[in-house]
Amino acid sequence: MDSKKLIYAGKAKDVYETENPDEVIVAFRDDITAGDGEKKDNLQGKGHCNSLISTKLFEILEENGIATQCIELKKSCHMRAKKLEMIPLEVIARNIATGSLLKRFPFEENQKLDPPIIQMDYKNDEYHDPMLNEEITIALGIASQEDLDEIKKITLKINKILSEFLKEKGILLVDFKLEFGKDKDGNIVLGDEISPDTCRYWDINTLQTLDKDSFRQGQDNVMDIYEQVCGMIVDEKDLKKWKIT
Ligand code: 5GP
Repeated sequence: MDSKKLIYAGKAKDVYETENPDEVIVAFRDDITAGDGEKKDNLQGKGHCNSLISTKLFEILEENGIATQCIELKKSCHMRAKKLEMIPLEVIARNIATGSLLKRFPFEENQKLDPPIIQMDYKNDEYHDPMLNEEITIALGIASQEDLDEIKKITLKINKILSEFLKEKGILLVDFKLEFGKDKDGNIVLGDEISPDTCRYWDINTLQTLDKDSFRQGQDNVMDIYEQVCGMIVDEKDLKKWKIT
């Protein structure tokens, strides 16, 4: 790999510096975790699937005017990306009420959320990613009001673009989590990944889970599901190029 020092190790990805100070390699691992890291496993091929899916979705967003960190899939599991100063926010967009929203608030299960809900959590393991409001976010120095307004605007745009794209592939985009950073010029850029690890995808006809909820629920066909989604989202030529059959 053209990478050198490991500069960040997450629960399912590593980030390495490269020869170019403005670029990094994001390495997708096969590790999978849930419940604040309490449930763990290693699923062979998951990093491969997620790197292909994320690269494809970033490409769709770039084509629609959203700045993303992604430059190219350099090889399986390795995305060449712009180096960003990450903002410790988990920006969650919800189109349907499910997951933690039902545990915390009296929404009806599967209630349609129109307009979508944008929620921001503090990405901080020590504090277990608590939900923020704008005043707390600004007082902690995590982001300015201007940054928050822009992040919200971009997230709503991403939701629209991805919902439409995935609908054509037979997938309902239920909710998802994004992470943003700033590039060397101070521009807000979408980073991290968009994959079945970070989104809820439901089969548009059967409403079957096509994402990490399968792992959270203890299903034994998690990798089959990731491969199925990869086949639905990624172009045939790229599946062939990167040798997923
Ligand atoms: P919920 O808050 O209902 O658990 O999650 C909402 C959405 O955000 C889901 O698509 C979920 O996968 C994603 N999400 C929320 N927090 C995290 C997180 O810490 N890590 C990952 N990978 N996804 C998250």
